[in-house]
Parts: sequence; structure tokens; C-alpha cells
Amino acid sequence: MIGCECATCLSTDPHDTRLRPSIFVETGRTSVLVDAGPDLRQQALGHRVTRVDAILFTHGHADHILGIDDVRRFNALMDGPMPCYGDRQTLEDIRRTFGYVFDPAMPRGGGLPRLDLIAIDGPLVVGDLQVQPVPVWHGQRAILGYRFGALAYLTDCNRIADDAWPLLEGLEVLVLDALRARPHPTHFSLDEAIATARRIGAARTFFTHMCHDLAHEPTNARLPAGMALAYDGLVLSMSNGEC
Ligand SMILES: [Zn+2]
Ligand SMILES: [Zn+2]
Ligand SMILES: [Zn+2]
Repeated sequence: MIGCECATCLSTDPHDTRLRPSIFVETGRTSVLVDAGPDLRQQALGHRVTRVDAILFTHGHADHILGIDDVRRFNALMDGPMPCYGDRQTLEDIRRTFGYVFDPAMPRGGGLPRLDLIAIDGPLVVGDLQVQPVPVWHGQRAILGYRFGALAYLTDCNRIADDAWPLLEGLEVLVLDALRARPHPTHFSLDEAIATARRIGAARTFFTHMCHDLAHEPTNARLPAGMALAYDGLVLSMSNGEC
């Protein structure tokens, strides 16, 4: 956190240096980003992301969409517009926040990201990747998590929608929002996240979207078995639906 000198912000443990939440999913043939936050450029450079076939957006908050201008480089690499999937509210948020991109009066030609906004109505397929949208509640706003085979990514939520529970059965890996110890109106607290993770029952759960209240090592030391904080650069390899 800017201007903070707490133990986490001063920590020398690299796990405590956190950029904005996002994941990159690769099948070997297909590469997909979930969200394009303000750190997208740094993340793509740092993790050598050279190809993105589509972006799946969870919702339109700034920490999940403000990297959209950097999609220009992926447009050049793919020589085409970027398919961007999201619910209708999210696509509207993107159109409003990036008004210059959709303004017909703006001169074209290299200076603008080319985005193909596609509303999500149900399960979708990107290349050889099957994507199951998972409805979750982020305060008063219904947003989307995503399931890819045996892995589900549910960031920014404080309640699982009633119709989402059946979509979360048989997971090997769950990635779930856990902001801090104290309650929050739009994010799971750590205790709420632990209880939710227990009910979902994935073999392994990684928490994400932590703020500086949760230092990596001391928090991990008191988490139940099979649960841990995620960290920047965490890589999970899956084959045949297993992790
Ligand atoms: Zn701090
Ligand atoms: Zn949010
Ligand atoms: Zn967020």
C-alpha cells in the first residue's frame, strides 16, 4: 500500500509484494487472461506473456480493467481485435471507462486497443479451452468467476450465488477472494473465505485479493491444511483435470 510502513509493506519476503489480481490460463494451444488490471503490462513482461487469445472479465472495477490500453500490443501480436468476454454490466463499464476507445471521432491506426466485446450468456469455448462462468456476489453486484476444468477462480466476492454451488463440485483447485481478517461489505473476510472453501471442498484452495493486513508467511502458518495464500507468479500445472 502506498505510504504504508506496516510489517507486510516493509516485508522482504517476495510473497508480500503483490500486484493487482489476475490469472493467465494456457492449454498449450489456447491462452486466456482473466482480467486486465493496471499492472497488466508489468505482469505480462515479468511472466513473459507473449500471446493472449481472449480476455475474460470478472467485473468492471478499476483494479480489473485499467490495463486495457495495453491490449494494443496483443492486438499487434495477434494481428486482430481482442475478444473480450464479460457480463453486460462489465462491458458497459468498459465502454464508459474507455470512452476514447469507442468514440468514432477518435483517429484509428495503432493508437487504440481493438476490443471485440462479447456478452456472456452461458458456458463458452475459447480455442480448446472450455469456460464455465460462475455467478458470485460482490456486495450488491452480481459478477462472474470462472471455472476451467478442475480449477475455479472466484475473485472479488463475499457470497456464492445459490445457483453457483453445483458448478463448483469436484474441484481440484479453488482460488477464492479473502481480503483481510475484518469483515468487508464486498469481499470475503479470511474466516468467511475459509468456511466457504470448506463447503466447496476443493482438494486445494488458494486465497487471493489479500490486502496488507494479511502477511504471507504468518497467515499461511495458521491456515487449515490444503489452504494457502496465493502469490504473484504462482504456477499450477494441470493434466486431465488434475493439478
Ligand atoms: Zn501496509
Ligand atoms: Zn471489485
Ligand atoms: Zn478487485
